[in-house]
Amino acid sequence: MAKFYLTTAIDYSNGEPHLGHALEKVGADCIARYRRLRGDAVHFLMGMDENAQKVALAAEHAGVPPAEWVRTLAERFDATWRRLLCSHDDWIRTTEPRHHRTTVALIERIRARNPGDVFIGEYEGLYCTGCEEFKQESQIVNGHCEEHPHLELVRTREQNYFFRLSRYRDEILGLIRSGALAVEPAIRRNEVVRVLEAGLQDISISRQRLAWGIPFPGDPEQTVYVWFDALINYLSATGFPDAGYERLWPADLHVVGKGITRFHCIIWPAMLLSAEVALPREVWAHGYVQWGGTKVSKSAGTAVSLDDAIARHGPDALRYFLLREVGFEADGNFTWDRFDERYTADLADGFGNLASRSLAMLARYRAGKVPAGGAGTSLDASGLAAVRRYAETMDRLDLRGGAEAVFGLVGEANLYVQQAAPWTLAKQGRETDLDDVLATLARCLYRLTVLASPFIPGKAQSLWQTLGGRGEIEPAQWASLEAPPVAGMATTKPEVLFPKPAPA
Ligand SMILES: [Zn+2]
Repeated sequence: MAKFYLTTAIDYSNGEPHLGHALEKVGADCIARYRRLRGDAVHFLMGMDENAQKVALAAEHAGVPPAEWVRTLAERFDATWRRLLCSHDDWIRTTEPRHHRTTVALIERIRARNPGDVFIGEYEGLYCTGCEEFKQESQIVNGHCEEHPHLELVRTREQNYFFRLSRYRDEILGLIRSGALAVEPAIRRNEVVRVLEAGLQDISISRQRLAWGIPFPGDPEQTVYVWFDALINYLSATGFPDAGYERLWPADLHVVGKGITRFHCIIWPAMLLSAEVALPREVWAHGYVQWGGTKVSKSAGTAVSLDDAIARHGPDALRYFLLREVGFEADGNFTWDRFDERYTADLADGFGNLASRSLAMLARYRAGKVPAGGAGTSLDASGLAAVRRYAETMDRLDLRGGAEAVFGLVGEANLYVQQAAPWTLAKQGRETDLDDVLATLARCLYRLTVLASPFIPGKAQSLWQTLGGRGEIEPAQWASLEAPPVAGMATTKPEVLFPKPAPA
């Protein structure tokens, strides 16, 4: 059993979870569920980034002690991801003692292994309180941070600890070019390579005298820079530096937004190289959910509510729509109209209709018991081809391609029902032919239920039980897709999987 350790970015505790966060979480969850289907020992980490100054500021504005503020938000985020059927195994918060301990241990290890990589320097620059970072010339537009045009940049000068990032440029460039550190999709890899080719400056990794955050080891006057400590969460969750942390580490996949590739593909690998800790294998940088042409985010002030989006057609439908229509590789649009169209066409009239008519015919003609027979029909050939296409796309994290393989097969199956016309076979008393058709449909439904489960885990599990499947779909049903063992299974009549909304 191969281990597969995957993570999502941790979210700032300064606002409510929104659709932009949701795309990342359901995409990573879809990958986690797919790896479990394939038999991997998955460890899936999500969590919260709680040490930023802007978190403390948000708490202050709300008149709440910061520790209480972050706890409330952590519960809210975790509950939201559970509602969206995310299956994370661990939930890390950077205010936890385990994270403080690993952060200190990693900095101490950098100092021990490569003295000189952490040094004292003076930093002066234009600081954005929104981003919590000094901005480079290229990030400043009309005198303002490009991400926060309404905030004034503050000229700041202070003594900090620095990290000798520049020293690792050549090595990281080599690792990314060779694929030893995979950065996907290619458009993001090319961006990161261009940043590396332009050269790296050493970075400040502490701030003076902040009341909130992790004290810098050996210097209580300084606090660890929030970006530096946030990255370490992926290692904290493994128990580093305790013996046995390598049972999880290195991470097999970091899923992050395209805006933070510099941190995950350059700074984080450099920190690990300096500490002589193994590097993650792959970073996947997804695009953004757009609403009316603008990125959905807290700072953009976009108004689409995640709760409304979940309530509209249920969590399975939202997951499916985000991964199929918005997409996990580049920016994509969210609109209510398109969501409703996809829901009706793909889920209600497509998958839902196929399931209900197949199970209804099994109930009517065979008292729910799946007959033997019919192996090797045209629909079986389509099913096997869909399984192969699905594996090939999902293996390279093309989630849209995986969804297309599933729903392409749904279309073929609905066509097969029309052409095979089981009701006619029943009327004509052609019992063997009818057995063949019903068995073929049951095998197809079995394959579809398993393949769709990473996208619509709640509905897939309920369909699985209706089909007479035992226990959970995960972890190990992949091998049975070749020849689904449906003969003799006792099916029941399903609830309506995807009810059509009442006309307005
Ligand atoms: Zn900013």
